[in-house]
Amino acid sequence: MPRPILATVHPAALSHNLARARAAAPDARVWAVVKANAYGHGIERVFDALRSADGFALLDLAEAQRLRALDWRGPILLLEGCFDARDLELCSRLGLWHTIHCDEQIDMLAAHKTQVPHRVFLKMNSGMNRLGFTPERYRAAWTRLNALPQVEEISLMTHFSDADGPRGITHQLQVFEAVTHDLPGERTLSNSAAALRHGALVGEKSDWVRPGIAVYGSSPDFPEHSAADWGLLPTLTLASKIIGVQHLVAGDTVGYGSSFTADGPLRIGVVACGYADGYPRHCTTGTPVLVNGVRTRMVGRVSMDMITVDLTPVPDARMGSDVTLWGRSSGGAVLSIDEIAAAAGTVGYELMCAVAARVPFQVE
Ligand SMILES: *Cc1c(COP(=O)(O)O)cnc(C)c1O
Repeated sequence: MPRPILATVHPAALSHNLARARAAAPDARVWAVVKANAYGHGIERVFDALRSADGFALLDLAEAQRLRALDWRGPILLLEGCFDARDLELCSRLGLWHTIHCDEQIDMLAAHKTQVPHRVFLKMNSGMNRLGFTPERYRAAWTRLNALPQVEEISLMTHFSDADGPRGITHQLQVFEAVTHDLPGERTLSNSAAALRHGALVGEKSDWVRPGIAVYGSSPDFPEHSAADWGLLPTLTLASKIIGVQHLVAGDTVGYGSSFTADGPLRIGVVACGYADGYPRHCTTGTPVLVNGVRTRMVGRVSMDMITVDLTPVPDARMGSDVTLWGRSSGGAVLSIDEIAAAAGTVGYELMCAVAARVPFQVE
């Protein structure tokens, strides 16, 4: 028998979440963001459930090729554009739309020989200070692109740094508006957090939204709102089984560093899941876990291949009992990936992208 750990992708939840994202921006078309191999889920595993999207956004050209290999003929947007002049040949061949965020990318496009002019998304750095032209240089970039025979259509794009937090989007939205108000072209502004939290502000100004994390059932602004608050369902379950049981007495300790000490008799389940599976080592005693669908807590440290859990709330648990590290138990109990991420001081994004290669996947 293989080691019992298993990751399960839930297609019905993906479709549901995509519909939720669409409802948050009812007048916009929706890019399903599938970068990083669909946030760790696997592009091929999510594709069918997300094919009602208006387009797919990603940044790895090999992933764009995989989407075309699945016979997706609709829009694909390269969120970081081309890294190299040769990438433009693939854009021409596969009909990829691409971001233009710097002068070097305009130079490459100006030198590119193509029969088919490209649709490009001109990105403004409206305050995030990652990719994009500054507001001062944005219109000159637009004018330069607009004069190129290689360009068919220019759309306008920016990205918010604080859509999930108290600073919000207004400061960046004002900068974007001031520079672009009289430029033609479609607009795309919002990630999940902006679409869900600031739909009223950006709704009318968006032709396309770019939800990623919401599609994968994790809240963009946990703990202010949970995934359930947003009506999102878990799309990825990490499950395993109990492979050993220990009976402790007061004073016994568990695991490396003896970080947990029992203060009385305690039954401990040993679970086949560790940091080499992608379960975060920063989780400590108290991190929630489901055993037979019942919520209990991890105790002690995460080791490479195992964690240890308190079986007190689950008296019937034994060797082979089902454990849900995050996601949905077979009985339907939900443990949000956001809770585990918070216990590890990180975000759901990181956990879903970090499920290790040794973990087998199935599609429900
Ligand atoms: C990743 C990404 C998104 C999606 O962000 P989420 O927070 O996952 O919704 C949107 N736009 C750009 C440019 C991105 O890189």
